[in-house]
Amino acid sequence: MLNRNLIAGEWTAGSFASRNTSPSDISDLIGEYASADAQDVDRAIEAAAAAFPGWSRATPEFRSDILDRVGTEILARQEEIGRILAREEGKTLPEAIAEASRAGRIFRYFAGEALRLEGERLDSIRAGIEVEIIREPEGVIGIITPWNFPIAIPAWKIAPALAYGNTVVFKPADLVPGCAWIIADVLHRAGIPSGVFNLVMGKGSIVGEVIVRSPRVRAVSFTGSVPTGRRIGVECMERGKKVQLELGGKNPLIVAADADLDVAVNVALNGSYFSTGQRCTASSRLIVDDAIHDKFVEHLVEAMGRLKVDNSLNPGTDVGPVASQSQLEQDLKYIDIGRAEGARLAFGGELIKAETEGYFLKPALFVDSTNEMRINREEIFGPVASVIRVKNYEEAVAVANDTEFGLASGISTTSLKLASDFKRRSQAGMVMVNVPTAGVDYHVPFGGRKASSYGPREQGKHAREFYTSLKTVYVQS
Ligand code: NDP
Repeated sequence: MLNRNLIAGEWTAGSFASRNTSPSDISDLIGEYASADAQDVDRAIEAAAAAFPGWSRATPEFRSDILDRVGTEILARQEEIGRILAREEGKTLPEAIAEASRAGRIFRYFAGEALRLEGERLDSIRAGIEVEIIREPEGVIGIITPWNFPIAIPAWKIAPALAYGNTVVFKPADLVPGCAWIIADVLHRAGIPSGVFNLVMGKGSIVGEVIVRSPRVRAVSFTGSVPTGRRIGVECMERGKKVQLELGGKNPLIVAADADLDVAVNVALNGSYFSTGQRCTASSRLIVDDAIHDKFVEHLVEAMGRLKVDNSLNPGTDVGPVASQSQLEQDLKYIDIGRAEGARLAFGGELIKAETEGYFLKPALFVDSTNEMRINREEIFGPVASVIRVKNYEEAVAVANDTEFGLASGISTTSLKLASDFKRRSQAGMVMVNVPTAGVDYHVPFGGRKASSYGPREQGKHAREFYTSLKTVYVQS
């Protein structure tokens, strides 16, 4: 069956279809999904613009109830949705179910936030005048998402956009239309009015560009790679649009001399390799104090040897496949680059044969690497991490901050003094002490600094900074 786009409240076939297959088993067809062309996207934008006055003036309770129904249904169907997610993206079934559950909770959280959008009232500096500061929705929001969190990232953009009274044109990554379609289907059946939410699946070079360039789209929220994000940022700025970019990372995890070895190994193993390392918050630079280096590497390699890399649906799989052939090629290219640069592979890095034909890569750990190497400067976005040996904590902090990125950082230490110091000196937007760099809560701000992010933070109540605009009103009484 063809899963269609949702445009102006109608399921629309589009001019061609794309096949969604599993990276765990390329013979596993998840479904066929309609690809939108430029005219479809224009119609979706028109519909969103036409629906904006009604939706923005709907009561917060009306909006809240719809989001609550969406969140409740996603939570109730988390196992079924998680299975589709695991099949199309390749993360393990437990990871995928947890992501579906998180998406449900995000919708429910913003169902509550829809009711809590407050303003301010002040006396003017001039007698007899009152000042009000109110927040208003922006209008039509373009939402463009990557493949690595196919339901959580769309949820944390769509839910606040709708909660605060905006209308949406949503383009998911072409690789993962399945979860995007589920969100559209659930929203549609939850009673979202026609045109308020529109799904346009298809290629970024076609669908994404129309969204970014359309004068009717007032703001664009994008998560993805640095080059695409920067191009979109420039396009938006040239057209006077608001833009929010969540981009890559090259996140450091410091293992201090006094770290609890088991904690440090678990934090590194999870942060670097779970979800096949395909998390923008993954710890790809393990910065290890000379005093603990050899023991840490020995224990981490042992733990990596116990990881089961297999079909994401198989019970007991710890690491699923790489998400696509092209991402696998990128990972292998960087493994070659690392070797050529003089780093040594202490574990993994080779292809694995499983019972099904998929993109299975043994998680790779480089040692003897330096922070100047390309493997430590450029985002690989796969199950590849490298150890950088440092002589003390001071050098570790300097290396951690010596990167163009600034999304997440971590430290493993038993010292309150070092933890407090690192919290202050880290140049990342999110700092983790004895917890993996990847894995965040949905009710607090998410985002980075430097080349990792641009614009206001996502998630939690801070999401309102992007999805609303301030208006200052002066009233003579
Ligand atoms: P891309 O930047 O290639 O794609 C992201 C989205 O942008 C996709 O939907 C893509 O469409 C779309 N797109 C591509 N070209 C254009 C264009 N010209 N105009 C408008 N839209 C376009 O990233 P990936 O999907 O490959 O994701 C991996 C990257 O995302 C990694 O580098 C990772 O670091 C980053 N990322 C960052 C996160 C963060 O929060 N900081 C979170 C997750 C990932 P399509 O693919 O359909 O062609």
